[in-house]
Amino acid sequence: MMKIPAPQLRKLAQGAKNAQAQSGRPVRLDKDGTELPINACPQMYRAILTFDDGPEPTRELERIIAILNDNGIRGVFYLLGEETKRSPDAARLIVESGHIAQSHSWDHEGSGLVRFHKKQDIVENLNRAQMAIAEATGKAPTRLRPPFGARNQLVREAVGEVGLKLTLWDIDTNDWRKPKGLDEHKFSPARASWKKMYDERKHPLDILMHVQQETADRLDGFIKSMKGDCWQFTVYEGA
Ligand SMILES: [Zn+2]
Repeated sequence: MMKIPAPQLRKLAQGAKNAQAQSGRPVRLDKDGTELPINACPQMYRAILTFDDGPEPTRELERIIAILNDNGIRGVFYLLGEETKRSPDAARLIVESGHIAQSHSWDHEGSGLVRFHKKQDIVENLNRAQMAIAEATGKAPTRLRPPFGARNQLVREAVGEVGLKLTLWDIDTNDWRKPKGLDEHKFSPARASWKKMYDERKHPLDILMHVQQETADRLDGFIKSMKGDCWQFTVYEGA
């Protein structure tokens, strides 16, 4: 391949700028020929897409993974131990596809982990989930998102004892509320406040969703609209 000398490269770059100046605005096309804005983002914002309650239903999990893969995004899945035990192949697919599997405890019963009155019962519940997820994926979770986000002192102590990091979320899509799915009217807080929130918190915003059909249906559209609005997707630091 012919190597273009640096001055000529600069000239080419200048030419592109001039072309943009003439057309009045920057133009860039994606691989389908769709016009994309360039230099339209004075700043990029970062978010983490997290999916609770998997790996079942496995069909929806597979759809979500396919959408993330198509968009070049790694997602984080908070898995239930008992569902992982029933559907280990689906849990394995998460990790094999480059995504991250974390713990959502063993089950989703009652009020979650706060239903227990003994720390040891919580530790056992968490350890069962650790075993099931490690067995299926080859990796033990490092984080726990408690069902319903429900936690108390006992839960915090048990989570620490198992060596997990208690992790909640920044944005709740409320995708489980009827009508189910990703609907901006249900997002809490409202999307209009996310960029300010990102600037204040100085860490990628954790966006909570669930493994379910209605979320899979709208996920691609949501991702594309976020990308078009200067958002990038990442995973937790140190994953
Ligand atoms: Zn849940």
